Amino acid sequence: MLNAWVSPQGNSYELEAAKNNIQGLLYALIDSYNDLHYVRASNHYDGKGMQFCVNWQYTLSLTYAMRKSKESTVFSRLAALETVMSAASWPQTRVGQTTITALGEERCQLCGADVRDSLLTFWNCSYINDLDCQYIQDTNHLAPLANQRAEEFACCWLRGIMPKSFAQIPEGKERLTDRFYCIPP
Ligand SMILES: [Zn+2]
Repeated sequence: MLNAWVSPQGNSYELEAAKNNIQGLLYALIDSYNDLHYVRASNHYDGKGMQFCVNWQYTLSLTYAMRKSKESTVFSRLAALETVMSAASWPQTRVGQTTITALGEERCQLCGADVRDSLLTFWNCSYINDLDCQYIQDTNHLAPLANQRAEEFACCWLRGIMPKSFAQIPEGKERLTDRFYCIPP
C-alpha cells in the first residue's frame, strides 16, 4: 500500500504519520499540483512570470480581506480585481488579436495614446493616472518599474499575481498571511 510521497521540492511525507498533521501535507499536495500547470499558465494572457511558480497566499490575501467587507464599493473593486487576476480583462489590443474584423478605435479614447494594451490601462494612461483616486495616486510612483519589468513579469505587473521568488518569507513563517515580506521585484 502506498504510504509515502516525496514532493517536487524533495520533502518526504509518510502518509500514515501525516494523519496527525494533515495541513502540511495538504499544502504540499496543492503546491505540487499547481507547479505542474505554471508553464502552461505563463503562456496565457499576461501570464509571463508564472513559470517561476506563484505565491498564492500573498496573491490572494487582498481578495480574501475584501470578501469579508460589507461595503458595496469594496464589492465592485473586488470584482474588478478578480477580473484582472483571472485574465478576463480585454484591452483593445487583445480584442484586435482575436478578431478578424476591426472593432473600432485602437487609440485610447481617454489620453489619445496609440496602443491601448494592459500596460497602458494599468500604468501609462495619463488620464487615468491623473484621476483623483487615492489608490491610483499611491501607486503611480511604481509606473517606471512596471514599464521596466512588465514584459518579463506580466503576471505581477499586469494581473497582480506574485511570483514565488518575490516573496521573502522568514523560516517558520511560511504560512502567515497577515504580513508581506516582499523584495522589490
Ligand atoms: Zn489613455
